[in-house]
Amino acid sequence: MVLKRLFNHSLVPRFGKDSIESLGDQYTGLLCLLASGTHLLMVATGFNGWERQEIWEIIFLTITAPCYLIWRFQGLDPAQHLRLSRRICTVLTLSSCIRWLAIWAFPYPETTYINIVSGLLYLPLLLGCLVLVGGNKTTINLLIGCYSITPIVFSQQQALQSTPFADWRLGPSIAAAYLVVKQLLRSVLALNQNVQKLSINNSELEKSSTTDPLTNALNRRGLERLTSVIAETRSGVIMLDIDHFKRLNDKHGHIAGDKVLTSISQCLQSSIRNQDALCRWGGEEFLILIDLSGCKNPRVALHRIGNSLLKSIRELDLSDISQELSVTASAGICLVASDDSFQASIDLADQGLLQAKRRGRDQVATAQWDINATSGQNVAELKPQLIEDRASLEG
Ligand code: GH3
Ligand code: MG
Ligand code: MG
Repeated sequence: MVLKRLFNHSLVPRFGKDSIESLGDQYTGLLCLLASGTHLLMVATGFNGWERQEIWEIIFLTITAPCYLIWRFQGLDPAQHLRLSRRICTVLTLSSCIRWLAIWAFPYPETTYINIVSGLLYLPLLLGCLVLVGGNKTTINLLIGCYSITPIVFSQQQALQSTPFADWRLGPSIAAAYLVVKQLLRSVLALNQNVQKLSINNSELEKSSTTDPLTNALNRRGLERLTSVIAETRSGVIMLDIDHFKRLNDKHGHIAGDKVLTSISQCLQSSIRNQDALCRWGGEEFLILIDLSGCKNPRVALHRIGNSLLKSIRELDLSDISQELSVTASAGICLVASDDSFQASIDLADQGLLQAKRRGRDQVATAQWDINATSGQNVAELKPQLIEDRASLEG
């Protein structure tokens, strides 16, 4: 039963092309480098136990290893790269089997030790390669079989008589050891696959918990994650609300309303820069966080950006949703003095928005900094120093 399991199950579950197999890619490259490196080192240090079939192996490895690296850094198509890795692995496997057979069938007493030991060391590497590039169980079992049967067949040769290799039990020992290696590799890979799946699920969860599903903008939680960035950069808040959206819903229907929300979100997203952030604050209200670091006059810059966003909404082509459909929006703006005043800045931007609505909509307004004029409780809680700072920012 155990033996059947060891030999029979597919060694590698089907992994995603770009995960385990890309690891296999790297592993194959590493093996090529390692093998060509050790071979060349042996040549350079005058090792004289070469057999003829090793010459082409050295040539193959010396050409393949750098080519492989060049292909890798040139960004070869992953599928093509994988095919290449499989071919290299096949050649390496065949060459390793032939060499192993040759070492045992025609042993040279002075080089037997190093050849057999290096042959044994290459096997786990080869197994790893085969597993990672998706080698099937037949190839892998054949490789283990070849490595195990050879000592049983050739161990009683004259040339090996005075060495520890003159023992047929080496064969079953090799088989047992490498079946264990195979099992370990399988467990490690299965574990690795689970970890990868978990991390993919995690990042998907993270994304869905921080973005709004309708508009793909950040939600409030997503914006909260940015507070550390807000603490480090001078920024401004634009609170933007679509005008008469209820009327639009009533006239064109809720589905059209949803499409308008999505179009406006896309329009805003494409109007702001990478360092800015768009958040759907709720309903038909968006909060846009603008990075103002490097602006000589942040207040003027923020006002200008607010106006240009409203202009792009005003000019937005919504004819694919409904003919004669146009929308406008109003915005309140506020500079953020430091991260602990972020909530207060949002409240003030909200005050600005209210003013813009009162003044007739489709415009930008800045809230007054007079503490008595603001009804927002958070603003009343601000430290006096902070209020001064922000008052000086507003000018
Ligand atoms: P104002 O110019 O004063 O902002 O008027 P308004 O009609 O835009 O504001 P009001 O707060 O009265 O109405 C907001 C509407 O937005 C009501 C609600 O049905 C609609 N709304 C909120 N969220 C969604 C949504 O996800 N999809 C759609 N289609 N409508 C939404
Ligand atoms: Mg509205
Ligand atoms: Mg609203």
